[in-house]
Amino acid sequence: MTFDLTSKLPGLEPSIFTVMGAMAREHNAVNLSQGFPDFEPDPELLALVDAAMRTGYNQYAPMAGIYSLREVLSKKINTLYDHSFNPDSEITVTSGATQAIFTAITAFVNPGDEVILIRPAYDCYEPAIHLNGGKVVSVQMKGKDHNIDWEEFRSAITTRTRMVIINTPHNPSGRIFSQSDMRALEQALTNTDILLLSDEVYEHLVFDGKQHESVARYPGLVSRAMICVSFGKTFHTTGWKMGYCAAPDYLMSEFRKVHEFNVYCANHPIQHALASYLEEPGRYLGLGPFFQQKRDFFLNAIAGTRFNFTPCEGTYFQLLDYSRISEETDTDFARRLITDYGLASIPISVFNENREDHRQLRFCFAKKEETLTRAAEILHKI
Ligand code: PMP
Ligand code: GLN
Repeated sequence: MTFDLTSKLPGLEPSIFTVMGAMAREHNAVNLSQGFPDFEPDPELLALVDAAMRTGYNQYAPMAGIYSLREVLSKKINTLYDHSFNPDSEITVTSGATQAIFTAITAFVNPGDEVILIRPAYDCYEPAIHLNGGKVVSVQMKGKDHNIDWEEFRSAITTRTRMVIINTPHNPSGRIFSQSDMRALEQALTNTDILLLSDEVYEHLVFDGKQHESVARYPGLVSRAMICVSFGKTFHTTGWKMGYCAAPDYLMSEFRKVHEFNVYCANHPIQHALASYLEEPGRYLGLGPFFQQKRDFFLNAIAGTRFNFTPCEGTYFQLLDYSRISEETDTDFARRLITDYGLASIPISVFNENREDHRQLRFCFAKKEETLTRAAEILHKI
């Protein structure tokens, strides 16, 4: 008996986060590669989870998520972005943003459909598109500054374009979409039936008084969009894999068909804890200043090294340009940084069209000051 094991994802290699994380462990490196905090979440949030478990919320949650969580999310979105999502029919709690994104793509992308990705693009979009028979059309951000050429974006649209995926604040560049980016996108999609998937997992990590341009602020976008968000980023709980999707009901009803028969529901006790915890807006609105302080701590600590940088506008990732130091590709340089110096980062060419390489590495600064200080000491030696 032989089995036909033709891969559905031929050529797909383990993700850069798996590779760099394993190397970091092997070499006992300071790990600023995969994005996760090395400090604990708020004990009050942990106590709420504990209380929810002890109260008996240990069986399945309702398919779309508990109502009180959807309700508090609806209010939060309304207050922050001035758009009203009906908690009954327009918000679904998911097992992380990755699941929300996979579900959104699976619900709408058919074989032969084109999906426009703005590159560098976070790595979970492309395999989901391929598994659904879709075709990726890439629009590469320009140069080291990662600006978007909206003319080029417009010319990537064809009659087969089914969906566009955007991500702001943007991983890995750390830039945020401006109002004029959002207006250009809105204009480009006017009079089309193209859907929008907006990955806004870093919505609260925006610095220097700037504003997160949620798709929810733009009527011409939100009417065609699925907004995917992660609680992992907002509450320092990436290991909980909790998130949600907000979308108009005509999209959400299809989204839920896939969600129901893929996961049915997300973690029940954590939903109760989050519903209570979210009642206090300071718990997420304080995140920008908190991470801005970490960014600035890190950037002050590396002042005087041979790395060049522009402070990131959002996310918890800082790009450092090593072109004054080496001609190596970013993957080679990132590997050597681990093996020779004991510091792990993420080379960003892997997220680019044709592995375009601008000699920039991504460093996660969601770390304790002592970790950032150790990393900076290493960067000073290079
Ligand atoms: N999108 C982006 C841009 C991310 O950086 C991440 C980080 N993991 C995700 C989606 C996935 O979020 P989650 O961990 O909630 O699945
Ligand atoms: N979002 C995290 C990052 O960009 C990685 C999560 C993962 O490993 N899939 O670092």
